[in-house]
Amino acid sequence: MIKFLDLQKVTESHGKEINEAVTRVVNSGWYLQGKENENFEKNYSDYIGTKYTVGCANGLDALIWIFRAYVEMDVMKPGDEVIVPANTYIASILAISENGLVPVLVEPDINTYQIDPEKIEEAITSKTKAILIVHLYGQCAYTDKIGEICKKYNLKLIEDNAQAHGCKFNGRRTGSLGDAAGHSFYPGKNLGALGDGGAVTTNDEELAKVIRAVANYGSTKKYVFKYIGRNSRLDEIQATVLDVKLKHLDEDNAKRKAVAREYIEGIKNPNIVLPQIKDWDAHVFHIFPIRTEQRDELQKYLAENGVQTIIHYPIPPHKQECYKDWNSSSFPITEKIHAEELSLPISPVITEAEINEVIRLINAWK
Ligand SMILES: *Cc1c(COP(=O)(O)O)cnc(C)c1O
Repeated sequence: MIKFLDLQKVTESHGKEINEAVTRVVNSGWYLQGKENENFEKNYSDYIGTKYTVGCANGLDALIWIFRAYVEMDVMKPGDEVIVPANTYIASILAISENGLVPVLVEPDINTYQIDPEKIEEAITSKTKAILIVHLYGQCAYTDKIGEICKKYNLKLIEDNAQAHGCKFNGRRTGSLGDAAGHSFYPGKNLGALGDGGAVTTNDEELAKVIRAVANYGSTKKYVFKYIGRNSRLDEIQATVLDVKLKHLDEDNAKRKAVAREYIEGIKNPNIVLPQIKDWDAHVFHIFPIRTEQRDELQKYLAENGVQTIIHYPIPPHKQECYKDWNSSSFPITEKIHAEELSLPISPVITEAEINEVIRLINAWK
């Protein structure tokens, strides 16, 4: 079977280094808030191009902590609105709700699948405090227009960089383009841990300090509590694994890009819509999304022929039971993407033979 993502093989590809690093931490007797976190945070800041990285338990928490810190800093208050793409993974939206803020959904562009910059301004009200852009599928969602809107209306720009580690906009990494960014190190992400992990990157010293505190019981000093916090930390073993994998991230992303190029050049089937890539630096292909009106048939055909695919995502956030109030609202572009999207196998470890087989099968479909 051609796996959607062979995680065992991904880990194996850096196995020797990972094993040495993990063994060193295991033998050190120090498992939380130590040298490995310090080291990874420094290296990740250098890589992304921000002054600060604050590690935390997972990507959802990273986003939650950004909004929580802004609430603690009186930059936002419950009831304020945050603009977010309607076609994102639910975590982007949960992070807003979790803080008593109100997510305001905006449709994506059907060609890029990213939030449509032309539709943002009409969603702004006197309560809007921030735009949360999501670099969905690994493609940069930022545009100069979004930057201008944030300036014009004095809005915070927050990035959900869970799917886009290493992605660039005009030479700058995503995760450094706005006021703060949330990163996920879920195992399947481009930079994945061997378990859960997350981080916030920012140039804002105060924000970084508040996040470090709220993610550590609200403590600013041992046994002194300034906020009603939680325990959400990155452990030392995950930090060292991430530090090893960070060194290989650019080469791993280059391999993903090479796979994407082969798909784009090789797939020639009029029933398939391929992703349109204008800037190859601005995409790290966390996902290779194709679209077809007969999506479910295609998925079944590929499965019967030994190819595993995934749908990102089958049900849009506004149709989920947890957001009942939105269930009757209509976001036709979002709904179209959710009805037609199919993600093909892509990873740094997929073989040439596997890529060719996927292309052959899709070209022979119908
Ligand atoms: C994975 C993901 C998250 C959540 O990250 P976790 O580490 O799984 O909590 C948030 N946003 C997006 C877009 C994601 O893909």
